[in-house]
Amino acid sequence: LRFDSYGESRAVEDKSFENARRVADHYSARSNQTLEEREASPIIHLKKLNNWIKSVLIHLYARPKDAVLDIACGKGGDLIKWDKAKIGYYVGVDIAEGSIRDCQIRYNGDLDQQQRRKKFSFPARLICADCYEVRLDKYLCDDAPFDICSCQFALHYSWSTEARARQALANVSALLRPGGTFIGTMPNANVIIKRLREAEGLEFGNSVYWISFDEEYSSKKFKPSSTFGIKYKFHLEDAVDCPEWIVPFHVFKCLAEEYDLELIFVKNSHEFVNEFFKKPEFVDLMRRLGALGDGNQDQSALSPDEWDVAYLYLAFVLRKRGQQSSS
Ligand code: SAM
Repeated sequence: LRFDSYGESRAVEDKSFENARRVADHYSARSNQTLEEREASPIIHLKKLNNWIKSVLIHLYARPKDAVLDIACGKGGDLIKWDKAKIGYYVGVDIAEGSIRDCQIRYNGDLDQQQRRKKFSFPARLICADCYEVRLDKYLCDDAPFDICSCQFALHYSWSTEARARQALANVSALLRPGGTFIGTMPNANVIIKRLREAEGLEFGNSVYWISFDEEYSSKKFKPSSTFGIKYKFHLEDAVDCPEWIVPFHVFKCLAEEYDLELIFVKNSHEFVNEFFKKPEFVDLMRRLGALGDGNQDQSALSPDEWDVAYLYLAFVLRKRGQQSSS
């Protein structure tokens, strides 16, 4: 395992730097939970559902010996999923120092006694850096190209400015091999905007989450030109409490094409469950993860409010243009 940190040298008064720092501080401060604390979480079944969605994506697109770039890897919650896919190499990058430290601990198998010790079969490199500001290819030229790039529940943090969104996609494109796959999950802008328009004020939610927009969006109308920097505050019990940005999917798709990344599919989480839950191997996986109620095939363990949050997200798959050389 190699660990590196590439710090930012930006002026503190720079707004996008300040926003990125707030997000980083929020995730850095989140401590590792014990198994008991995790099971007691009010959104435990939502977390399990999200793990199932990520596992299905990895199962569908990763191949043995693949080199994987995990952008915004967090505490390394997906390391076991990648291990099951028998990948050959893993690079994880995250802006939050605390999360990278936890990821390092998880990789080294030093979690507290209550959690399973795990040794991973692939070598790994962990980097602390702002993936939406830094040109990652400068630091990863010896590790690239990657077969798969994954960005789970994190791409929306790049949408604060056009420059950051572009840097995110430029990084993915520069580091993926031709024909390589980009998999991810992020909030579904259409659902959020629809719920905002249906809400009485500028805030909506349920017992486990709330989203709130600033007064400047009181008209609830977004100009076609406002494609970046549409900020809202997101609170999800026992998970998230920080600013996030709307990613209009058509803009994401067009911008990705500029970086030679073509859309293969996009599905809202509900649609994703309906499609992949038909396949016996994925039903089995869902049962093993504990996201099914009482072993009943038709009954989800998610509460209606957790299921309502699941609808806020989508999963996407893109492919880097070109063919892999046969050498
Ligand atoms: N991908 C992980 C997962 O699915 O478990 C973590 C998801 S967590 C909801 C979002 C992650 O995005 C956090 O770990 C946060 O630190 C990271 N993040 C946010 N902005 C980032 C940036 N500019 N560069 C790198 N990581 C970032």
